[in-house]
Amino acid sequence: MTEEALDLADALRPRIPSPLQPVEDERFTRHGVRLLLKRDDLIHPALPGNKWRKLALNLRAAAGRPVLTFGGAYSNHLRATAAAGRLLGFPTVGVVRGDELAERPLNPSLARCAADGMRLHFVDRATYRRKAEPEVLAALRERFGGDDAYVVPEGGSNSLAVRGCTDLGRELHGLADVVAVACGTGGTLAGLAAGLAPGQRALGFPVLRGGFLAREIRELQYETFGAAGDNWFLDDRFHCGGYARTTPELDAFADDFEARHRLPVERLYVAKMLYGLLTLAEEGAFPEGTAVAAVVTGQPL
Ligand SMILES: *Cc1c(COP(=O)(O)O)cnc(C)c1O
Repeated sequence: MTEEALDLADALRPRIPSPLQPVEDERFTRHGVRLLLKRDDLIHPALPGNKWRKLALNLRAAAGRPVLTFGGAYSNHLRATAAAGRLLGFPTVGVVRGDELAERPLNPSLARCAADGMRLHFVDRATYRRKAEPEVLAALRERFGGDDAYVVPEGGSNSLAVRGCTDLGRELHGLADVVAVACGTGGTLAGLAAGLAPGQRALGFPVLRGGFLAREIRELQYETFGAAGDNWFLDDRFHCGGYARTTPELDAFADDFEARHRLPVERLYVAKMLYGLLTLAEEGAFPEGTAVAAVVTGQPL
């Protein structure tokens, strides 16, 4: 683990390194693939999956100041930030994309944030889109926490988050040839790939439509490390129509995977990644004997 993460690690008692579990699945073995599950979903009960890795160094930097951050109405990042605020005792503000009236009563995810003491502030889509602009940010600061507030961008993906995710790669040295992860903002992949050993590769499955992610991941790597790596790839075929969209095939696949392996399969990210991996295995994308570690980044709500 990176040294800076240690004090926070102590406070939240995360399960680091996360467990790596082999899975017996003949649909993969038939194609020469040894499948392993990297159980980041078990790192912390209240900070789902990769969110602990992304927040750890940010929370240390915030050092107890109010944390102001952004997300959609079902954001795992907002939930994780709110939980950290409750557990470590600092104020949190969540700027939520959406209309407050339409969001009341709060959905289970936002209700969890509120119960953890997060102040929720709803903004319309136009304002939300401009959330990184200095005037919009200044107005938000003015209203919540002033200059003191520590701002974490949407999805939590800044340089400290990317740095935190390098540990995910490091934990897999010598244990996998390919590491697969579902991508939202791409921050996790950017860090994971940078933490891998020479010869290991990271494979990302974007869950959003648009094909913009490769550029953003390169930018995150430039910002964080001063250079972008060439040991990662994206496969854009498995977003199933976009964020939170699904298809009957994806649902059937996820139900079946849960039944085979008694693993609850998170549907917005993890299901798409596993489905993508199986398709690639069937296409013969992996040489005989390839060990593939699939990162389980979260659990169903
Ligand atoms: C946030 C999240 C991701 C995506 O992480 P990024 O760093 O934004 O790409 C993947 N899986 C789950 C379960 C998540 O909550």
